[in-house]
Amino acid sequence: MHLDDESVRILQAVGVAEEFTGISRAAAGLRLLDARLRPFAQFRRSASGEHGWPESNLFDQPALEELLRSRVSAEPLISLRDGVEVIDVEQRPDGLLVRLRTGPEETVTASAVLGCDGAHSTVRDVIGARMRDLGFTERWFVLDVAASEPLPTWGGVDQICDPARAGTFLPLPGERYRWEWRMHPGEDAADLAERIPELTARWTGTADVDVLRAAEYTFAARLADRWRDGRVLLLGDAAHLTPPFIGQGLGAGLRDAHNLAWKLAAALDDPPADGPLSEESLLASYQRERAPHAEAMIRGAVRVGRAMTGGPGAVAALRRPLVAGALRVPGVRARAARVLRTRFPAGDLVDRRRHRRDLVGTPCPQVRIGDERLDDVLGPGWALVTDGPVPEDLQARAERAGAKTVPVDELRGWLAAGRAGAALLRPDRIVAATDRSGGQQGVVQGVE
Ligand SMILES: Cc1cc2nc3c(=O)[nH]c(=O)nc-3n(C[C@H](O)[C@H](O)[C@H](O)COP(=O)(O)OP(=O)(O)OC[C@H]3O[C@@H](n4cnc5c(N)ncnc54)[C@H](O)[C@@H]3O)c2cc1C
Repeated sequence: MHLDDESVRILQAVGVAEEFTGISRAAAGLRLLDARLRPFAQFRRSASGEHGWPESNLFDQPALEELLRSRVSAEPLISLRDGVEVIDVEQRPDGLLVRLRTGPEETVTASAVLGCDGAHSTVRDVIGARMRDLGFTERWFVLDVAASEPLPTWGGVDQICDPARAGTFLPLPGERYRWEWRMHPGEDAADLAERIPELTARWTGTADVDVLRAAEYTFAARLADRWRDGRVLLLGDAAHLTPPFIGQGLGAGLRDAHNLAWKLAAALDDPPADGPLSEESLLASYQRERAPHAEAMIRGAVRVGRAMTGGPGAVAALRRPLVAGALRVPGVRARAARVLRTRFPAGDLVDRRRHRRDLVGTPCPQVRIGDERLDDVLGPGWALVTDGPVPEDLQARAERAGAKTVPVDELRGWLAAGRAGAALLRPDRIVAATDRSGGQQGVVQGVE
């Protein structure tokens, strides 16, 4: 139901962001409400974030999946086989053998296998990964409706911190709405389905509603301990599971794919035997970069979940005013937002950092250049963005990485804030190095 601006930027790289705006609505942000639906904390989201898209977007996931499927079918290099179950992956010296159940059993060979096979991943079992429980498992009742008239909303997501029954309410595109209700022990979806009018009465008033979906989901917080064995890799819910309270699960899967895609392409395209751009280094950096971000995201969602569902009693009653108070303190909101900011640790593909404001390891903002967005101007692959002359060594290194050099006046403020004059961007638009980074290790040196 929710995607942030960095995720939409990834959809842009795939070529479906414009279409996504047709199936989504920009949202005002997220509020925490008390049991009487009075807001006690609010996180506003801007209609144009640093990634060049609204910071918060509400949509219906099946509509996005439809969009991605039609993009896939327009791509001659992809063949999609539906209704096929992977039952095993065998690593052999000459490649991977994937066993499929398609009716009769069948095998295909593969250079790499990306296990995007969800919470009950078969591929995860194949590589012997285990899920680490981060301490949150609850059953929730999810309800989608179409209403005969607009229901009152503030245009964003409401998290209802009611000890008697925590819930979520938000508007979807069209006159469609989503509620999620925490289920009590002993309740099942049929019990709550019978009580829909009572649960929704405070919002629906006189409107008629058609129930589009009413189903039970288990919300969990888990992280796989290993995301890779050779060229078999885990992405999305196969690698991490989060309660949806800050709307980040699918976004995390998109981030995984964006992080891995260019590395895998480089790893399969005759890479050097060693060094930062070797297959081992490229593929090993995937979990090292993505897992800490995924874990921070899950823990952030669990914190919001606990504020919502702390349960009845003194501790929960105390916690809510504390959350409200804390959120009013300047800096706390900014810190909460920073949980989700991408900042990769130093490594082979992220040159050593020198100072706190260093841009290295963070995404380059997507500025507008005239009518165009930065990523469309840069195109795929490595890029060196500059504000004036570039030191010779960085220029030479960028050329050896195959980067195009693009002067971008619009990035002057960003570069200056990071005390840099030029930034070498990876294909996923993460800064690999600047003219001020150490450069003694890492990719800049590695491509020499
Ligand atoms: C109620 C709810 C609300 C949510 N809200 C949000 C939100 O607001 N924002 C957000 O970003 N995320 C949200 N999420 C999370 C989001 O839906 C998931 O993170 C996302 O769907 C994960 O995508 P995935 O492709 O990794 O896995 P899945 O969507 O689970 O897809 C896995 C696919 O693999 C297939 N598969 C499984 N095993 C095999 C096999 N052996 N062989 C072949 N195919 C196989 C499955 O059939 C399925 O098609 C929410 C989730 C729930 C339940």
